[in-house]
Amino acid sequence: MDAVSLLCEIIGQAGKVAAHAYRGDARYGVLLDAGLIQRDGLVQSVLCENCDIPHDAEIAFEGGTYGHYCPELGFVHVEYADLVAVRANLASLVEQLHATFECSQGGISQLGPQTWRVGLVDTPGGRAVVYFHTCLQNEDNLVSLENALRGQIRREYALVVTAAGHLPYRDAGTFTLDQMVQLDLGATRLRKSVSVAESVGAPPRSTGGRPSIYRDRFKAMLADRAARGVAEKGRNEEAKAVLLDYRRQRPDDPAPKLSTVKAYVSEFRGG
Ligand SMILES: [Zn+2]
Repeated sequence: MDAVSLLCEIIGQAGKVAAHAYRGDARYGVLLDAGLIQRDGLVQSVLCENCDIPHDAEIAFEGGTYGHYCPELGFVHVEYADLVAVRANLASLVEQLHATFECSQGGISQLGPQTWRVGLVDTPGGRAVVYFHTCLQNEDNLVSLENALRGQIRREYALVVTAAGHLPYRDAGTFTLDQMVQLDLGATRLRKSVSVAESVGAPPRSTGGRPSIYRDRFKAMLADRAARGVAEKGRNEEAKAVLLDYRRQRPDDPAPKLSTVKAYVSEFRGG
């Protein structure tokens, strides 16, 4: 089970919510333990379900007890535990996102009532700046985001993570919090589901071997073959020949693919 879905629900309600609704929910305890939600006084109103027509009622304190007034039943006692309120701890969330996304040090700041700068992430295609914006559910949310990001330095990539809503934003990729991170039962730290580089569509890091070492070795071998006058005329033939040389010289080492070696030959020959 992933507790981030409940966190999104609480953030989506923008303010404090009654804790009792979640008391039986295992995700609630996980969020408390992780410091992602915190107690915040008492709720100001409750939904009266004691009478025929459910209605909102203000909390009152009378005769040493909490309750509310119902037009039908008069003063109705409410358990203190049912009035405890919680809210999302957004500052803590942003710090945890900063750590989970492995942002470079520093750079966290609140930019607006709903908006935080989480930090910078190095991707193979350049730097990505990550923002958190509570909700992207309506036009007001978009305007608030736009105002908050005004004056921000542009980077190669920008990502806005939001707890609720899917409205697109023209200047950045948008992802929901529960797409980006997870919080497992028993865990106290967020876990990354998608990397920032993937979410902004940065080119993938090249894998397989250590290309820079290959490149240097093949350059040296190609130069040697050219100096000895044994280089093949055709690029493909030369790539095959130099790869054969490499395999003979290093029978126990992994070798790059022929297509990679062809690229080295082209590079060596200048184009
Ligand atoms: Zn009532």
